[in-house]
Amino acid sequence: MSDTMSASASYQYRCPGCGYIYVPQRGEPHEGFAPGTPWSAIPDDWACPDCVVREKVDFVAEPVSSIANT
Ligand SMILES: [Zn+2]
Repeated sequence: MSDTMSASASYQYRCPGCGYIYVPQRGEPHEGFAPGTPWSAIPDDWACPDCVVREKVDFVAEPVSSIANT
């Protein structure tokens, strides 16, 4: 069982207001974004589904370290 470091540019995007995290590979089906929807495909005026205060431009990109297997 090798623990290979995936060096692919995987980022997740965190809302600085409430901590909601958008993970492109998971998408956000409730918002109409299918799993695999890249951040670049999210509309600029998209608001955080949790707090509805922050918009896409406020989100903070951070490397995906470890995502729990679904
Ligand atoms: Zn939020």
